[in-house]
Amino acid sequence: MTPIVALPPYARLRDYETAIRLAGGEPRRLEIGRDDPDDVMRTVDAILLPGGGDVEPSYYGEQRHATFEGAEAGRDELELALAQRSREADMPLLAICRGIQLLNVARGGSLIQDIPDQMPDALSHQRREPPDVIAHDVRVERSRLAELLRIDGEMTVPVNSRHHQAIKRLGDGLVVTAAASDGVIEAVEDPSQRFCLAVQWHPENFHRTGEFAGLFKAFVDAARK
Ligand code: MN
Repeated sequence: MTPIVALPPYARLRDYETAIRLAGGEPRRLEIGRDDPDDVMRTVDAILLPGGGDVEPSYYGEQRHATFEGAEAGRDELELALAQRSREADMPLLAICRGIQLLNVARGGSLIQDIPDQMPDALSHQRREPPDVIAHDVRVERSRLAELLRIDGEMTVPVNSRHHQAIKRLGDGLVVTAAASDGVIEAVEDPSQRFCLAVQWHPENFHRTGEFAGLFKAFVDAARK
């Protein structure tokens, strides 16, 4: 049986879909208004929360920063519901870029709304190069992520970076598993769940070269069980 992975609506899903297929899964695009969260939970095996616009800050008790650019109408609500329900059902969840931020907010955490403004000494995280160009390193802690990336002694991994927001206050049940040298959180996971892993970079952009294939493989394998 091929596990079905649900993807909320986003204009640039192609690399995510390719990475899922290469890992043995079948992506299914969701539609706002058509796909009710409870129906989704009954008909898919895993949830992937992809990149996109900013999460509405009222969901974590803040006003919009001047740089706020929201996601598709209704997407915050659909994704928050899916993050909640996947936790309750222990359904595998992989969250990428906006996804790590959405997951953190769904767990009661908050976000740095604009890194250049709120962390002026930070590295440049919102890079404009082609998507698979390396932007900075992340230091990975002993974790599921480290196991999946097959990191032994050397715990530093080069990644791409296209975000202006990041996790501020950590959400319930999450642990930090990677950070950049400036302290920006780059990965979290929930060790109490079967598979709940989130990264701030874009592993899907490396599907040609396979650096992060192990991540997608483990995600789809978890969805098969
Ligand atoms: Mn980054």
